[in-house]
Amino acid sequence: MHQNQFDMIIIGGGAAGMMAALAAAEQGAHVMLLERNAALGRKLAITGKVRCTLTNACTPDEVLQNIPRGNRFLHSAMSRFSPEDAMAFFSGLGVPLKTERGNRVFPQSDRALDVVSALRNALYANGVSLVQARATALLQQDGQITGVQTEQGERFFCRAVILASGGLSYPRTGSTGDGYRMAEAVGHTIVPPRPSLIPLETKDDFCSRMQGLALKNVGLRVINAQGKQIYQDFGELLFTHFGVSGPIVLSASAHMDALETESYTLVLDLKPALDEKTLDARLVRELNTHVNRAFHNILPSLLPRLLVPVMIERCGIPGETKGNCITKAQRQTLLHLLKSFELSVKRPRPIAEAIVTSGGVELSEINPSTMESKRISGLYFAGEVLNADAYTGGFNLQIAWATGRAAGLHAALASSQRSEFDESSN
Ligand SMILES: Cc1cc2nc3c(=O)[nH]c(=O)nc-3n(C[C@H](O)[C@H](O)[C@H](O)COP(=O)(O)OP(=O)(O)OC[C@H]3O[C@@H](n4cnc5c(N)ncnc54)[C@H](O)[C@@H]3O)c2cc1C
Repeated sequence: MHQNQFDMIIIGGGAAGMMAALAAAEQGAHVMLLERNAALGRKLAITGKVRCTLTNACTPDEVLQNIPRGNRFLHSAMSRFSPEDAMAFFSGLGVPLKTERGNRVFPQSDRALDVVSALRNALYANGVSLVQARATALLQQDGQITGVQTEQGERFFCRAVILASGGLSYPRTGSTGDGYRMAEAVGHTIVPPRPSLIPLETKDDFCSRMQGLALKNVGLRVINAQGKQIYQDFGELLFTHFGVSGPIVLSASAHMDALETESYTLVLDLKPALDEKTLDARLVRELNTHVNRAFHNILPSLLPRLLVPVMIERCGIPGETKGNCITKAQRQTLLHLLKSFELSVKRPRPIAEAIVTSGGVELSEINPSTMESKRISGLYFAGEVLNADAYTGGFNLQIAWATGRAAGLHAALASSQRSEFDESSN
């Protein structure tokens, strides 16, 4: 085979691209993996706070329940490469795993880099050619893929291309939306990308005054513009200079379908372990114990220091008020704020800060069993470039593994059939 000629070219050496390359190479395909960065898997290396939640130990159906956008399309790929398969796969590559809270699966070493290294070593072992270059265009003739052109103008030829170039989030890891442009140029529709699993900016300036404060146990409810509760969670929240972040905020954002246009309210329960009656009894006890203490000196026994001035301002009880002078109505106001501290969402942070991109290549234009384009023969898709995204918990990487696997296997099969056909027609 000519040095610029391959059975298959995979664009993007991230989670989906590496999985696709391995699946294809294991079938005997002559595979080239094109990655713009000097290192493979830059994003993978920072996943799960550099520990990598590489999948979720649950059934394929449970994975699909955690995929708000694209789950029907993913049914076939997910049942053929389930979390159990992913766990067996990585254990087989020499990455021992462990399962933690919420069925999150991590490498036992707690090092995402070990996952990257295992994949990279397997690519070498399976003879995948790694080329560092930025793909800029898909080459095609009469609706059949023929190759890829790079930024330097170099052309590589092949029977199949798998586009696994990721989305638009964390662009410094290499995902800058090139895949959308290349897919669009050959006739695919791109559902406008928008951020998901994203920190939220708030209208109020309270948050910036509490920046750096992490609340470990807080209840969160999300109310939409119609006053309907659309999400509820419990866990860790972080106040920042722009608003709020932290695991429960990121998860909540994935449920807010119209973040750019609709107004949402976040309602925090700062004392989730106490119901109103118990909390009221606790307030009465505090006030009765500290009859001569000023309100601003009583609150620190109930709240973190940074929350105290904000709470005083919001509840309207002057800070100097003595414990025994606080009225029942004032106590009720405080109680209400502790159980229902409201924040108005202004907008999401920019997509560059999103954990995952929602939107991407329109799924109805792709065969869900094979990941092949219905428009261009020999063009396949895998990973975040697709219009599918999931909640937190290892589900987004599970999408990358399952779609990468499906695309790699089917592209290898199709390219070997095409090669037999080419040989018999010569
Ligand atoms: C901070 C952070 C933490 C996360 N943690 C988790 C987690 O713990 N668990 C989980 O399930 N998900 C997590 N995710 C989401 C998960 O990382 C992504 O969904 C997943 O990496 C998508 O894989 P991908 O291969 O489709 O895209 P990417 O991993 O983005 O890979 C795409 C690759 O394509 C390359 N590329 C792009 N354009 C070109 C081009 N023109 N030519 C050549 N190469 C190109 C890029 O350089 C990149 O290497 C996290 C995301 C972030 C940002």
